[in-house]
Amino acid sequence: MPLSLETPVLELKKIGVKRAEMLSQAHIHNLEDLLKYRPFRYEDRTQFQKIADLKADEVALIEGVVSVTGRYTTAMKKMRVFEMTVADESGSLAVKFFNQPYLDRLFKKEHTVILYGIPRLDDYSDGLALHNPEYEVLACESDRRLHTGRIVPVYRRIGRLTSRMLRQVIFQSLEELPQKLEDPLPESILAKYRFPDRRRAFQEIHFPTSRGNSKENDLELLHLQQTVFHQRFIFEEFFLFQLGFQLSREDRKKVSKPRLLEMKDPVRKIMNSMLPFVLTSAQERVREEIIGDLCSPYLMNRLLQGDVGSGKTVVAVQAMILVFVNGCQAALMAPTEILAEQHYQTIGRLLEGTGYQIAFLTGSVKGESRKSVLRGLRAGKIDLVVGTHALIQEDVDFKELSLVVIDEQHRFGVLQRSRLMKKGVQPETLVMTATPIPRSLALTLYGDLDVSILDELPPGRPQIQTIVRRETHRQEVYTTARAQLSEGRQVFVVYPLVEESEKVELKAASEMVTHWQDEVGPAFTVVLIHGKLSPAEKSLRMQQFKEGRAQVLVSTTVIEVGIDVPNATLMVIEHAERFGLSQLHQLRGRIGRGAHPGLCVLLVGESTTPQGAQRLDTLCRTRDGFRIAEKDLEIRGPGEFVGTRQSGLPELFFGDLVRHRDQLELAREEAIHYLRECLESSSGPGPQYRSDFLVWWKKHFRLYNVG
Ligand code: ADP
Ligand code: MG
Repeated sequence: MPLSLETPVLELKKIGVKRAEMLSQAHIHNLEDLLKYRPFRYEDRTQFQKIADLKADEVALIEGVVSVTGRYTTAMKKMRVFEMTVADESGSLAVKFFNQPYLDRLFKKEHTVILYGIPRLDDYSDGLALHNPEYEVLACESDRRLHTGRIVPVYRRIGRLTSRMLRQVIFQSLEELPQKLEDPLPESILAKYRFPDRRRAFQEIHFPTSRGNSKENDLELLHLQQTVFHQRFIFEEFFLFQLGFQLSREDRKKVSKPRLLEMKDPVRKIMNSMLPFVLTSAQERVREEIIGDLCSPYLMNRLLQGDVGSGKTVVAVQAMILVFVNGCQAALMAPTEILAEQHYQTIGRLLEGTGYQIAFLTGSVKGESRKSVLRGLRAGKIDLVVGTHALIQEDVDFKELSLVVIDEQHRFGVLQRSRLMKKGVQPETLVMTATPIPRSLALTLYGDLDVSILDELPPGRPQIQTIVRRETHRQEVYTTARAQLSEGRQVFVVYPLVEESEKVELKAASEMVTHWQDEVGPAFTVVLIHGKLSPAEKSLRMQQFKEGRAQVLVSTTVIEVGIDVPNATLMVIEHAERFGLSQLHQLRGRIGRGAHPGLCVLLVGESTTPQGAQRLDTLCRTRDGFRIAEKDLEIRGPGEFVGTRQSGLPELFFGDLVRHRDQLELAREEAIHYLRECLESSSGPGPQYRSDFLVWWKKHFRLYNVG
């Protein structure tokens, strides 16, 4: 039986149950997965260097024969060393492996070996020696044909499967794979971009043939993944990925919603009269986008991005008015009790005089008050409920929930989000986030959502200056703080808690409080908020700070600082080097919210590297959250940027969300274009194919969170 891309790895030669298990741990289940496991490096083994020509500290690739081997333990550090001498026709070289004594079972006299590493001047050898090089043993003539004489792929090992084994298995499988493979890309795209045939592309990314360029050139293109073959797979992957999003969007648009909201006459009047200020033009634009969604026959699924203070909440409330006028209800879910409470108060003020009823529901609302809220929601007497995940409890029912607004969505599991949505008969959803997400990532995480951006701050915001200071300048920071406090202002101090050493750190944070108290003197009160406090205690201390009864707030977590205290003008971030740029930007947004200019001091530890401190420079130079987010993504990579828990990041084999942003954008446009063409010519994938595709899509990209 010839192989196909669907052939399970277990059926491949040299792969038994154990190895198949190792592969499956790396999410490699069939031949296609394996072929998409691409080399991380290539070696030009058409030319080896001569041992006599090697230079210290320059990468070397040599082929030679083992002449002497031996094991010993070093006198000083008691390290176990396996040492051998390898010779070619030009000379010989010492090769040492530290703490791998078992290697003497692998390397034997007369073996031909290939070694890759950096020769060093070695005091204990006469001249150069290779330490712990990458190695391969060539046992027979067929080994030689596969593992030398060509540009050879080098793979990261998977479990105990070495690069060499993987090369063998992949080589063998490619030999047995039919010459013609089905291509998932539409003909029109293949022609337009002149993408190479898929079968050939698989062959070439693993076993490249020379393309007439110089070898250096070939190797460089390979390493940068910029050969046409790599490009083809990068595009293919992004295209299929985006196609899935576009299909699910289309599917959603086929469902007409149970109720149409109408832009009734008094809506605009209420909307405009409730605001004590004029909307920014960004707010106007986004408001219209949302109104457009709500009045359209299809359900809204929109992400609203905007920096802290850009006025997202205000826009959301405007949208709610449309819902209320149509006799429906809205719910707003915030990630913490404190944030929910704050929303409740600000929105309460905005709704004053409109006659609409707002209620508050969190874990700490209990007994009769809770019952009364539940009754009000069920009877439709309450128009808007603001709360935390307490909103998704089973006994919370609505009369007619039609709009769900979720604040700081990344803090919620997707499960919680969808549970809240189930409370209504297909409610409209608006997800708000103050953590700007770079476009490439937004397309990846929320490709099925429409995105609105508030890229303008309301006018008249005071300046915020940001500076980086070393620990050694701590006294200067206290002086600044004292000056601010004596003017009647307030101070935030943020102290990062690293989870694994929470106990120790918490102690450090408490000491920090004492320290601050000593420095600012008894005339001012310093309070500490940390994650281990009960919600009630947290609220209490928060309230103390909000009302100005405490003047310095030391907080160990970022979430707790998500509050509005216009009188706070100084933000001191301890160990700023431990935070991501976006997080720091978020924190900084907490000051400069009132009439007075703000100062943000990023304190960095003594041992922070110059690069670490320089990274923070971006923050000092710009207040543009999107630029900061781009930079943050570049530095930390998508996984870290999004955070690990239920990140919703797809499993990509080829595409890189930072390096291949342009390709992602292009593939997305092509996917949209392709589907539109299918629709217009009523050709293209049929319904069965579409739904099969979506099942495959979720599984393949491991999108357990989507839809
Ligand atoms: P976000 O939710 O994006 O952080 P908010 O909606 O809470 O922003 O608005 C932040 C602050 O700015 C609030 O005090 C709000 O009343 C005020 N605000 C919002 N929009 C405007 C505007 N267009 N002009 C003046 N102030 C505004
Ligand atoms: Mg907000």
